[in-house]
Amino acid sequence: MGTNKLFGTNGIRGLVNKELTVEMAVKVGSSIGTFFKKKNLLLGHDARTSGPMFAKAVAAGLIATGCNVYFAGMAPTPALQYAIKNHCMDGGVIITASHNPPEYNGIKVIWNDGIEIAHEQESEIEKIYFEGKQVSVEWNKLGTKHEFLTVNDEYVEAIKKHVDVSEIAGKKFQVVVDPANSVGSLTAPRLLRELNCKVLTINANIDGTFPGRMPEPRPENLTELATVVKAMGADLGVAFDGDADRAIFVDEKGEIHWGDKTFALIEKEFLIENPNEKIVTPVSSSTLVKDIADAYKGEIVWTKVGSVTVSQTMKAVKAKLGGEENGGVFYGPHQAVRDGAMTTALILEIMAKTGKKLSQLIAEQPQYFIEKGKIECPEDKKDKVLQKLRDQVQGLNISTIDGVKIWFEDKSSILIRPSGTEPIYRLYAEAKSREKARKLVEEYSLKLAKILKTL
Ligand code: MG
Repeated sequence: MGTNKLFGTNGIRGLVNKELTVEMAVKVGSSIGTFFKKKNLLLGHDARTSGPMFAKAVAAGLIATGCNVYFAGMAPTPALQYAIKNHCMDGGVIITASHNPPEYNGIKVIWNDGIEIAHEQESEIEKIYFEGKQVSVEWNKLGTKHEFLTVNDEYVEAIKKHVDVSEIAGKKFQVVVDPANSVGSLTAPRLLRELNCKVLTINANIDGTFPGRMPEPRPENLTELATVVKAMGADLGVAFDGDADRAIFVDEKGEIHWGDKTFALIEKEFLIENPNEKIVTPVSSSTLVKDIADAYKGEIVWTKVGSVTVSQTMKAVKAKLGGEENGGVFYGPHQAVRDGAMTTALILEIMAKTGKKLSQLIAEQPQYFIEKGKIECPEDKKDKVLQKLRDQVQGLNISTIDGVKIWFEDKSSILIRPSGTEPIYRLYAEAKSREKARKLVEEYSLKLAKILKTL
């Protein structure tokens, strides 16, 4: 966190009691309250040990400015977002550090549509915070605090309205759920049981130290889930991140699939039923997402990387579906935000309707190989490198929305992006063969190194 910056790419994040303290949380609360001006705000947190502490601190700050706080307790981020929209709240605050390790926590601010506030609105809150412009109302104008403990129930019910419950129920799927000892365990197992699935859980006892696995649903954290799915002969495995807005799936063979593959399954079903719709996805997504759009009459709207950008773009272009390679699916008919449990219900519905196993559905998709690389680059040279690189690739089929993405004739592509947190450039190549993907990473790493030498 810089001297006049609080918000990063996903709200305020920091190490508990070091980068993010109770004192700061009170001040952040009163800054958010000042920004909203005496409104009704929902407040909730994930399973981290510091959740209740920060929730109370933020609540105190909000109440001091005259905002009324509706406290929802522990809940998945999408459950809180749904409640804000569904109950016409003026907004909300979510205490979560999403996929970060347990020693972190964070504060997200949500607008009345359930979507995180825009970066310009974050700047307004930062200005109030750093200039000390927090309002403090008279004792008889203080906000009030209310318990609001039905958000998880309402959320599960809402998801069921968007899938064919009897079709899924008829299949009696066996599903293994790994919610990383966090809030996903409050809603996903219950949703699945109500869809007549036989549910097995691992890492499903709420424990803010996250003893089972790290909360980022990356393949290296999901080996236990993959093993259990295979050993039990289950139909599906699903893992959530710490606030259960992202879902990563394991097929019946124990194979872990990255998010854009499962998103493409949802995209295909959606476009079959809703042709000519727009699909919003960041430039980091696989060409697979574009292939599906081309084959089923969809139109891709590429965005910068980041879930808030996807949500905001969906709103701006009136799109009903968005998705990310990290397991975030934005199903607009329910809500235009990432939602792990909604994603799970959609995948089960596809398996039920097609009668196919997940491995089979994935195998039927166009196949791509992915290779990644990185190259060191000092912060002060990042912009110049990007400029030179853009000049060099003019004439190719490129997008400069976020870094540089180049699509080649043979369906290979490469994305070159400066890291937002480290002094490096990251390269993500994709091609029809592993060899070609590797070559692209090599070729563009060299190009970047050459550019750096000239600066
Ligand atoms: Mg998350």
